Amino acid sequence: MALPALTFIATSDLVGHARGRSVPSSGATQALRRGVGWVPANLAINTFGEIADDNVFGAAGDLRLVPDATTGIDIPAGHGRPDLRLLLADQRLPDGSEWDCCPRTFARRALRGFTEATGLEVVASFEHEFAILDAPAAGPFSLRRLRGAEPFGTELVELLDSTGLQPENWLPEYSPQQYEITLEPAPGLIAADRAVLLRELVHDLAARHERTVTFAPIAAPGAGGSGVHVHLSLHDARTGAPALYDADAPSCLSEIGARFSAGIIRHAGALTALSACSPSSYQRLAPHSWSVGGAFLGERNREALLRICPTSTLGGGDPTRQLNLEFRAADATANPWIVLGALVRAGLEGLRRGYEPEHIWPEEATEAELAGVPRIPGSVDEALAALTEDEVAAGWFHPDLLRTYLDVKRSESEAVRGLTPEEICRKVADVY
Ligand code: GLU
Ligand code: MG
Repeated sequence: MALPALTFIATSDLVGHARGRSVPSSGATQALRRGVGWVPANLAINTFGEIADDNVFGAAGDLRLVPDATTGIDIPAGHGRPDLRLLLADQRLPDGSEWDCCPRTFARRALRGFTEATGLEVVASFEHEFAILDAPAAGPFSLRRLRGAEPFGTELVELLDSTGLQPENWLPEYSPQQYEITLEPAPGLIAADRAVLLRELVHDLAARHERTVTFAPIAAPGAGGSGVHVHLSLHDARTGAPALYDADAPSCLSEIGARFSAGIIRHAGALTALSACSPSSYQRLAPHSWSVGGAFLGERNREALLRICPTSTLGGGDPTRQLNLEFRAADATANPWIVLGALVRAGLEGLRRGYEPEHIWPEEATEAELAGVPRIPGSVDEALAALTEDEVAAGWFHPDLLRTYLDVKRSESEAVRGLTPEEICRKVADVY
């Protein structure tokens, strides 16, 4: 089959935007081998499209965006847009070696290090909520809401299927005009790649249908939020045997699972700085909104930072393979590679440093009982302070990567200074 006229080679940057360059089909083979040129300072572009002041890379240096052929998908033609081949890339030094500040390399190193240290493989899935701003009004979870998004919805599921992203559920969600798409679990890096691709596919398809979508964490103060919940499970890297389930353990969470969870809870502040990182993200992360009510591990509790998800034996279902942990504090303003890499690094700290397992709050825990759980940061600035104060978490990053991340995020806080909460929500919604 003929290649589309253009192949776009993309990275996802620190604010979760896919950026890159395209080559004509005649140059695609060479680009696969040698990559295309790229600029280090591009990593310092904030979500509003501006390079943060005093970026560590300055105007110097060169990189190559080297595509990973296994990530390639074809975006179909429609509505005046030709088809396009899209490939995700690592940012490498000109000699082909790894660049310490590449977000995809950060994830790959974290996953590789985790497997080397534990013999376990991380399996993940990113569950996305988003709003179709021009969808007709219809009730939460309703068939009418689902039908109101047609033919976009059916085409999205078909597109995800045909591009190998393995759609699982497509559903009308709770908040006005909100929808959710979930994908089957996959090995960690593939799952994070799929999160990057999914957001681009949704936007492209929406444009072809003249629909406006946003993955923004929250449309307006007090509205329901849109999260990106990250589901994680651990499997023996050699045999594939599940490692989170233990029928005799509290909530069936194995000791490995309990210590892995303890790492995530212990580093909650730093993790939220990396997973919910826009000026409007913390308007979503309020108690009573089914996002995150505190830094706790909860059994089937949708206010938990980390939720032990339910299992079901219906139809011969195997709970040992189903049990997974859901990190609920992420949103689509974060980079999926950074989020996954950081979660895995935090989990590994729990295992390696032998953190005491966290209390598992049972399903029936009351609000009064949960009142004393540690809170998560209340603003992006507070979260960034937690990240810089957490020496262990700061140590997961090359100093230039951490500094650039902080510079980018601070420049975004600066860009919204003086705006009302409504204006901040809108400004963020416009770019996601
Ligand atoms: N919309 C909620 C959030 O902001 C999640 C609701 C759900 O449990 O699906 O994360
Ligand atoms: Mg949902």
